[in-house]
Amino acid sequence: MLLPLGGAGEIGMNFNAYGFGPPDERKWIVVDCGVLFGRETETPGVDIIMPDIRWLAEQREDVLAIVLTHAHEDHIGAVGHLWPELQCPLYATPFTARLIEDKLFEAGITERVRVNIVPLHGHLNLGPFSIDFLSITHSILEPNALAIRTPLGTVVHTGDWKIDPEPLLGEKTEINALRKIGDEGALALVCDSTNALVQGHSGSEADVRTALTDLIGTLKGRVAVTGFASNVARLDTIAKAARTHGREVALVGRSMHRITKAARDTGYIEDFPRLVSEEEAAQLPPDRILYLCTGSQGEPRAALSRIAAGDHPTVSLGPGDSVIFSSRIIPGNEIGIHALHNKLAALGVEVLTVEDHFVHVSGHPARDELAEMYRWVRPQIAVPVHGELRHLAEHARLAKSLQVPQAVVIQNGQMLRLAPGRAEIVDEVPAGRMFLDGRIRVHEGEGFARTRRALGFAGLVAVTLVLDQRGRLAADPAILFEGIPDAVHPPVREAVAETTRRYNPRSGKEQDLAENVRRAARRAAADVWGKKPITRVELART
Ligand SMILES: [Zn+2]
Ligand SMILES: [Zn+2]
Repeated sequence: MLLPLGGAGEIGMNFNAYGFGPPDERKWIVVDCGVLFGRETETPGVDIIMPDIRWLAEQREDVLAIVLTHAHEDHIGAVGHLWPELQCPLYATPFTARLIEDKLFEAGITERVRVNIVPLHGHLNLGPFSIDFLSITHSILEPNALAIRTPLGTVVHTGDWKIDPEPLLGEKTEINALRKIGDEGALALVCDSTNALVQGHSGSEADVRTALTDLIGTLKGRVAVTGFASNVARLDTIAKAARTHGREVALVGRSMHRITKAARDTGYIEDFPRLVSEEEAAQLPPDRILYLCTGSQGEPRAALSRIAAGDHPTVSLGPGDSVIFSSRIIPGNEIGIHALHNKLAALGVEVLTVEDHFVHVSGHPARDELAEMYRWVRPQIAVPVHGELRHLAEHARLAKSLQVPQAVVIQNGQMLRLAPGRAEIVDEVPAGRMFLDGRIRVHEGEGFARTRRALGFAGLVAVTLVLDQRGRLAADPAILFEGIPDAVHPPVREAVAETTRRYNPRSGKEQDLAENVRRAARRAAADVWGKKPITRVELART
């Protein structure tokens, strides 16, 4: 059985459960436990979204383990939040394990759970599941595909991947192992769909190294480069390019320090150039500095946004300086990133992006790479995951065109039986999203996101009507306006006053009064403003 509870319908919050055995004694393993980042426009005030796993949590005695494929947030970000619901062992390769430990620490559960370290190319037996870790290439250290064997056959779960012949750091793709699984006969390929709509090939980190090194050589003044801190090969490229052109490197932003430390602790980047502190960098001539900054997605609290706003304690940029965005725009972040570009431009800083310079390659397989993977593994069944529905559907079409006998588009909560020659959706269990709102976890069905969006769109009017013991109005209505233009206040006051004047406590009901006032206030606002605020009417007693 394959049961995705996250990632089948969105790029983010990946969570796939694999089950084996008859329903009353079925054992489960979970592959990945990630988050999705909230968007201010859709879920105001919510930074972190994760899968609703209550169905699986109800049978947690039968959940044998969570296996993590790699350390991106959309694969490990929810471990600290969701582990308490499953309380099962965790397994990951060394670099991934190191970053998971940070998550457990943040969640305050380090005492209760340890991460079991699986060596690269390692093997794991968990109940009926026999699992091989296969090295693959992606945009982070230690990405793994899993070959999950059961008596019914072998499922290859790719995790996130691309085919990078020169990943620069870490292992290359274990093509022979994948081919061998194909030779033995693979039941299913459960595969990354992120770039199923992209033609061609994603390109190699080695090509970016050449291009970025050349580009940095042409720049005068201070240079800041921003990108994903988790792409250690890219950080290494940038640091070495800086050295090539006589620049010292300073890391700016917490995750830059955190990730490079984890990479060092696990034996990577031993030849990473020596770093200088932000303070030391500030003393150097402009053409001797390169800053590696967090904040490529326009995150307001990250280093680059603070630098652009002029409120970073040690780093400042101005005319003659350059910022390279060595990353793509994650859909949904366009507005924030463009605002950041504008702020930098206002400082006189030149902004260099992937739009006109070769400064980034994707970590996910484009269509030629997907086709290559299908040629290696030759599965009976293709199950696209890690995508929105449009990605999954296109990936399934591509798989069929590559002669895969069956390709199944599956959504979160659907239970797919994988058996030789036939895959079938046999059940549907509760699934959905949980929001981390401040410190509280709430179900998306509680619906507050809608109210917050409405508040953002048209503000709030709160009316308090004070009635005496006989139901007569005891005072003038008190009206509170929040987020509403001044011009709207008088007509709303007038409408409320008019409605209360017409109220006769002997013939009218108090609840009707409240509702009439509410409607009158909204109508009056709409007449002058063209928008209806959220309106609340409260009845109070003397
Ligand atoms: Zn991912
Ligand atoms: Zn990834």
